[in-house]
Amino acid sequence: KRETAEIEQLERAVSALDTSSTTYTSFADLPLSSPTRAGLKAAHFAALTDIQARAIPLALRGRDILGAAKTGSGKTLAFLVPVLENLFRARASGADAGLAAMIVSPTRELASQIFEVLYRIGRHGHVFAAGLVIGGKSLKEERQALTRINIVVCTPGRILQHLSQTAGLSVDALRVLVLDEADRIMDLGFQKDVDAIVEYLPPDRQTLLFSATQTRRVSDLARLSLKDPEYVSVHEEA
Ligand code: ADP
Ligand code: MG
Repeated sequence: KRETAEIEQLERAVSALDTSSTTYTSFADLPLSSPTRAGLKAAHFAALTDIQARAIPLALRGRDILGAAKTGSGKTLAFLVPVLENLFRARASGADAGLAAMIVSPTRELASQIFEVLYRIGRHGHVFAAGLVIGGKSLKEERQALTRINIVVCTPGRILQHLSQTAGLSVDALRVLVLDEADRIMDLGFQKDVDAIVEYLPPDRQTLLFSATQTRRVSDLARLSLKDPEYVSVHEEA
């Protein structure tokens, strides 16, 4: 099958990726699936930002990432592209695949923005189903959606409510956890919620944590959720 051949080729290319330096300058330089390439092209994303150039190769290799770069530096694609590729290569999308990726964002508005970007770059040949779980609908409607989707974009309090109250919500298939805007997650007082969410998830997952600032509280959160993380921090030249 064509997809099998593509996955085998991607696996070979990913294991040959150079993660030690900033070798890559554009998305076209990276071993990405054809649906992801098509989505990036349709959205006119070509050159990599600094955080993307450093974090995406490591994340494609399966590493946990603790990434810090200022607002506006392109962190959303730095985690969405690896999420799409993880699911594609594992064939973890489709009706029976279960919930494979969870993207946690501190606010409804930020979660909705991530969802829009996911929709823009993910609708050109990928087969995943995605949903927003931010308390915008009834618990019952969100619960029904959660049994069908492969990628959830959510706020901490609401997803924890589902994890702790919803009988039959399985997270056994979860492969990737993203914690976005980790500094704001901490500022808004969600540490306990995130710690509790992490307790529900399979320990052999990949975790990608991104933040605009590096603070003590962010490293506290990282210590509990990440495994042997690669630190990727992009600073402005003074
Ligand atoms: P952050 O999360 O770091 O604040 P975003 O992911 O929201 O940053 O991206 C900020 C802006 O930069 C968005 O408008 C996004 O579309 C744009 N952007 C991100 N990556 C690229 C890229 N590789 N090329 C061009 N524009 C990009
Ligand atoms: Mg952001």
